[in-house]
Amino acid sequence: MTYQVNEIFSSLQGEGPAIGMPATFVRLSGCNLRCSYCDTRHESGRPLELDEILDLAAPGPGRVVITGGEPMLAGGGLVDLAGALAKAGKIVDIETNGTIAPPAGLASLVGNYVISPKLSNSGVPPEERLLAPGLPPGPLKFAVDSVDDLEEAAEVAARHPGREVFIMPLGTEPLAAVRKMAALRGPVQERGWRLLPRLHVLLGVR
Ligand code: SF4
Repeated sequence: MTYQVNEIFSSLQGEGPAIGMPATFVRLSGCNLRCSYCDTRHESGRPLELDEILDLAAPGPGRVVITGGEPMLAGGGLVDLAGALAKAGKIVDIETNGTIAPPAGLASLVGNYVISPKLSNSGVPPEERLLAPGLPPGPLKFAVDSVDDLEEAAEVAARHPGREVFIMPLGTEPLAAVRKMAALRGPVQERGWRLLPRLHVLLGVR
């Protein structure tokens, strides 16, 4: 199968449960949403065969993050990709906006299944950002602009009980991100959630 791949690169995971871990990112092209703050140029890409992706990921870290765009748009091809990477000895994490149900057979191949529900701060209409039913276990990772966004995040989390909640500051400017985190610290702590940076933003790396 051919995949439309936006980029493949190795860095550290800047977000979510594997924050700080070395990882290779396989960013698939295309997304079903249009978030106002999107900082990935996910529309562009080049066609790559499965074996070419494996070859590019092989020398990198033992963790591979399949992201996008929205990786669920690859459908059953995502199962083949995750399965081949797992067979090659990689830990496979998935980052998704959660609006598309995963193809059958994917969940058992994945280490961290990280869902990033979009809030109204994304500018995406509510009906387009509803989480799909039957998502595998995994945390909800919210990008928030201010304390005002937390109530909406709480409403989403309440509809999907039993999932850990991560809060991270929106933005690509390090100092502003730290200031937002300082303002969020108390309210996030009170709710028993985890406050995390976007480490790559703070460090100025990809
Ligand atoms: S879901 Fe992610 S990749 Fe898609 S537009 Fe929103 S921020 Fe960008």
